[in-house]
Formats: sequence, C-alpha cells, structure tokens
Amino acid sequence: MAVATRLYQNYVNGRFVSAQGAKTLPVENPATGATASDVPDSSVEDAREAIECADRAQRAWEKLAPIERANYLHKIAAGIRADAEHLARVLSEEQGKPLDQARGEANGTANYFDYTAEWARRIEGEVIASDEPNDMQLLLRQPIGVIGGIVPWNFPLYVLARKVAPALLTGNSIVVKPSEITPNSTLELGRIFDEAGVPAGVVNIVCGYGPTVGEELASNPLIGMVTVTGSIRTGSRVMELAAKNITKVSLELGGSHPVIVMPDADLDLAIRSIKAGRLLNTGQVCGAPDRTYVHESVAAEFTERLAKAMGKATYGNALVDEGRDLGPMVSARQLDAVSGRVERAIADGGQVVTGGKPAEDKPEGHYYPATVIANCRQDMAIVREEIFGPVMPVVTFHDLDEAIDWANDSIYGLASSIFTKNVDVIMRACRELRFGETYVNRENMMENMQGFHAGWRKSGIGGADGKYGVLEYTRTHVVYLQYDLAAGRA
Ligand code: NAD
Repeated sequence: MAVATRLYQNYVNGRFVSAQGAKTLPVENPATGATASDVPDSSVEDAREAIECADRAQRAWEKLAPIERANYLHKIAAGIRADAEHLARVLSEEQGKPLDQARGEANGTANYFDYTAEWARRIEGEVIASDEPNDMQLLLRQPIGVIGGIVPWNFPLYVLARKVAPALLTGNSIVVKPSEITPNSTLELGRIFDEAGVPAGVVNIVCGYGPTVGEELASNPLIGMVTVTGSIRTGSRVMELAAKNITKVSLELGGSHPVIVMPDADLDLAIRSIKAGRLLNTGQVCGAPDRTYVHESVAAEFTERLAKAMGKATYGNALVDEGRDLGPMVSARQLDAVSGRVERAIADGGQVVTGGKPAEDKPEGHYYPATVIANCRQDMAIVREEIFGPVMPVVTFHDLDEAIDWANDSIYGLASSIFTKNVDVIMRACRELRFGETYVNRENMMENMQGFHAGWRKSGIGGADGKYGVLEYTRTHVVYLQYDLAAGRA
C-alpha cells in the first residue's frame, strides 16, 4: 500500500526544522507520477547554518574515544534494522526500486554502519624511526572536521552510509544533502540518528537543490572535505568550487562498465551475471555492466540467449506488484535519456533484439523494459556513454588485445568484468584493464563493503569502503618528538 503524502523537515543541530520561508519542493513517486511528499527547498543560508552547527558539535565529538563513537553507529544500525520494512517502502516509493531490492538496501545500510563501527579499534597511527638520537616521529590519524556529503538518487540510503559512517567513526561531523529526487528515506534516517542519541549537530540533513545547498557545501570555508557521489558534471563543478578554499574532495562519479566474454566462458554464468547486474535498480547503478564485448566465435549464441533471458524481465510498481525484476526509471527525464540513447543506437546501426522502446502498457509511470542491442560498434554513443538504464549493447571482438583496448577506451574507469576459465587471460585482464574494479567470473554487487570502491579517470578521486574508505575521512598529523633532554643532544 502506498505511503500517504506528507511534509518532511530538515534535521539540523538535533532538531527537525523547516527551510527559511518554509519553502518546499515536491517529491514524485515515479511509478504513478503522484506527489509522495514535500521536503524543504533549503537556501544557502539554511545550509550555512547547518555547517556552523556541525562545526561547533565536531569539537566535542572528536574528543570521544573511537569505541564510544562506534557505539552510536551500532545503535543507528539497530534502529535501521528495526525500521527496515518502513524504510524500504519509503525508498521504493520515491525511487521506484523493487521492494526486495529496497529491503536489501535498508539492511545493507545497517550492515554498513556495523561494519564501519568495527574499525574503531583498528585505526592505527605509526611510530617512525628518526635520524636523530632520543627522537621519534609519531604519525597520528585525526579527523578532518566538518564533512559535506552530497548524495545521488540511485542508492540514497547505502551511499549515505558510505559517507556518514566513516565520517562519524573518525571524529568528524557531517552535513548531508540528499538528492532532491529521493530525500524521503534520508529524512527517515534523520529520525533514527535522533533516536540513537547522536549528539546534536554531529549529523545534519539539509534538503534542496545542487546549485544552492550543494554548492554551499562545496564552497563554505568551514567544510574540511566535500564528498560527492553523482555525475561527472557535478563532480567537476564541486571541484571547481572547492578549489577556492583548497578543500579536499572525494568524488565517486559515473561508470561505463565493460564486460568481456571470452570463447571459453561459462555462458550460463555470464548471462546470469550480466542480466542481474544490468537490471539491478532498473539499470541505474554506477558500477553496472554497461557494454558487453563478446568473442566472435560465441557471439550469436550469447546474444540470443542474453536477449531471451533479459526479455523475461518483468516490470511494475514496487508497492503494488511485488516480485517484479524492474521498477520505473526514477524520473521522466531519466526515461527520456535512456529512450533517446536507444533511438540513437538504432539510427547508428544497432539491432534491437529485445525491448527497445518505453513500455506502453503503463503510461502512468516511467517504465522502460529490459533491452538488448546487437551489432554495436566501439564508435557508437551507446557504447561510449553511461546508459543508466536496463539496456545492454553487444559488440563482437576478434581477439583479447582488441577487447582490452576497447574496454579501456573510455572516459570512465570504475568497474570492469571478464568471463573466462583461462588463468593467463585472467591475469592479463587484471594487469591491463585500467579500472578501479575488475570482477572475474561473477556479477558485481552493491555490498562489497570491505573492498575499495574508487574510480580511475573521470570516474572519480578517492573512494569508499574498507580500510581506505575509513582513512579517507582522516588527515595525518606528524609529531616530531625529542625526549630525554638532559642526556640528549639538545
Ligand atoms: P547528479 O550529479 O545530478 O546529482 C548528485 C547529487 O549532486 C544530487 O544531490 C544533486 O542535487 C547534487 N548536485 C547537482 N548539481 C550540483 C552542484 N552544482 N553542486 C553541488 N551539488 C550538486 O547525479 P544523479 O543524477 O543524482 O546520479 C546519477 C549519477 O551518479 C550517475 O552518473 C552515476 O553513475 C553516478 N553515481 C556514481 C556512483 C559511484 O559510486 N561512483 C554511485 C551512484 C551514482
């Protein structure tokens, strides 16, 4: 059953507050076109106030022992688990993802808070040998201060956890700006942060648009690091603004994930994995398989079987038709973008094997069916651009050198995959694929929280997850310490 239309508030300094002038913006349910909620349309001044509160709160927060901060993260995780079904419904309603995936995201978000909390006793500094007698150097890991966290619409809860959990654990405070398209689930989390007793001002949520709230987070001098998950355009703009104050940036931007299918690949596994990865979140995943390169000797069989498997995918409204593979695209804009890319691919010589145009039977929502396009070439826009929808172009290759060259020929460098049983080919791929991630004989999944999610080229700078994702939220402070002055050289 749909959740009723409601009015949310920002969460600032431990209080739920409206934007100045009580300005609001509507949030759409993409399955029906109805308004799901109204949220604050915050101003630059609203964002500034939250940043100042976060700055004041951070000083006391960093003095807590890490294990005490970790206990708050465990409480947040427990709160999310206790409320997972509600959170999943709010998430599906605003974002469109099938309910089982929304439940997975809510539970994955709880797991992320617990996992990050476990780092409390494992963040270590270093004691470095000095060139002088009675002298040592201590490398300390300290918080950066106030973090600005800018979140996209595709995984509003999980991406938020990737920012809030390591920021808090390491003693920072944070001001989060959810996407204006999917703020509801984030604001529900605000209540959970509050119920977990997180001290006022340590986590703040300010809703609104990129050019107002987002740009203030990138350009305010009190921000020590701004972390963005979003498009290249946004990442580039944030970097430009951050340059004014030499503010650290951490950017997780788009991807165009090549999948190489070798002649000896287990085709059942490859097709199952590509289908699952491509259709997850209705194709709106930064690391999802985006272009398949299949060896000419198996191309016909592979393409026919992939199209058959993808053609079986069902779609529907997450809150009404449970158990569907796909939800609607997040917005009319996103539907038009995907539809336009497929039309251009057809005009460029691509051959639609399944799908290929917006669903006609559900005009109330933004539905696009699973699509496979054969006869694609490396020079086609559908192969070169991030698709962000349930569409897979297939390109045929002659030998491994060609496949690796084409895979690397991209402005993106986030994720890549290869299916083969030949260990020599696997090792070449690991060495020569120029990407932050390579998946070998398996699908890419969201919950790889102990890895490191970091893109090459325009896919980003810095990264999230694992040890390096936690350390991203620290800065070094080296102490050069001379002791035993009476006996020493001083
Ligand atoms: P987007 O860049 O339009 O929006 C992302 C966030 O940035 C939103 O909160 C938005 O309001 C904000 N924003 C927009 N303009 C801004 C500005 N001028 N200054 C500051 N903030 C601004 O991206 P999106 O459409 O929400 O998400 C889709 C994109 O995100 C895709 O390219 C996708 O690949 C990428 N993405 C990457 C990852 C990753 O981990 N690498 C994960 C999810 C999504």
